Amino acid sequence: MKGTVLYGPGDVRFEDRETPKIVEPTDAVIRIAATCVCGSDLWPYRGLQPINEPTPMGHEYCGIVEEIGRAVQSLKPGQFVVGSFATSDNTCPNCRYGYQSSCIHREFMTRAQAPVLRVPLADGTLVPTPDVPPDELVPSLLTTSDVLGTGWFAADAANVKPGSTVVVVGDGAVGLLGVLSAQQMGAERIIVMSRHEKRQQLAREFGATDIVSERGDDGVARVMELTKGVGADSVLECVGTQQSMMQAIHCTRKGGHVSYVGVPHEVELNGAELFFTHVHLHGGPAPVRRYLPQLIELVLNGKIDPGKVFDLTLPLEQVAEGYRAMDERRAIKALLQP
Ligand SMILES: [Zn+2]
Ligand SMILES: [Zn+2]
Repeated sequence: MKGTVLYGPGDVRFEDRETPKIVEPTDAVIRIAATCVCGSDLWPYRGLQPINEPTPMGHEYCGIVEEIGRAVQSLKPGQFVVGSFATSDNTCPNCRYGYQSSCIHREFMTRAQAPVLRVPLADGTLVPTPDVPPDELVPSLLTTSDVLGTGWFAADAANVKPGSTVVVVGDGAVGLLGVLSAQQMGAERIIVMSRHEKRQQLAREFGATDIVSERGDDGVARVMELTKGVGADSVLECVGTQQSMMQAIHCTRKGGHVSYVGVPHEVELNGAELFFTHVHLHGGPAPVRRYLPQLIELVLNGKIDPGKVFDLTLPLEQVAEGYRAMDERRAIKALLQP
């Protein structure tokens, strides 16, 4: 088979690789129905997160179980499954507290931008759908694997409740699905910080009520104006830079909640400054596995259509163009079809 390998900044190749097979008895091998490029793939692609060797890419996936190891009990070949970007046994204390992305046996998935994928800890990691879903639901189901799960965690960790005033910092796929999640959780007002018209439009479709196009201190001033000088109850930081983090903290009301789900890159917080902001901070790699059953159900029941974040669909062999389009912000998110 051929799979996606990143060789260095801007150098994505689709090349011959060994077809994955069962290694551990707890593994499953799945045939990918759809995969995609993640915003976090762009950090190494842009050379901002160095790689030491050619690195197989891809961690968002769904597909049909082809083969299971002899210890796998809850899955069978032919089932359609979705899994998180982090594997989990779903039984250790961290998993039972709902933090499966910190499972003591966690591995971060990679190699999913390929037609076939080995998934470790299959019983704890993969969630099957009741039936094989129709093709038109596959993009939305794929989002539950990471971007929707991460946006949902962002809203949950920021304590979004019915009636909340919410700010979303970041208009990438995660930010946009943070809007959708906040809307599902009953937020009354959802302010999105975005400068891109196409993304603003999708944010509105997902439930945004206000758009702020200013950034940094100007953006904070605008949010303060919109919230009568109080700040928002819940702020979702979905970027991971110093500026976006400070913007999020400064938009939050005293006693409010900030979640941060963008992988931080050179973000530093000043303890004394943080002390006087009086905010709750909660973030990290989203425990997507906690939310998968609920999110899959919302998609299958037609309650949400998160697959709209895919504004570019390419055959898998054109994966390099998917990276380019996202890097140049021509695409919000690129879906790849094997
Ligand atoms: Zn991802
Ligand atoms: Zn665990």
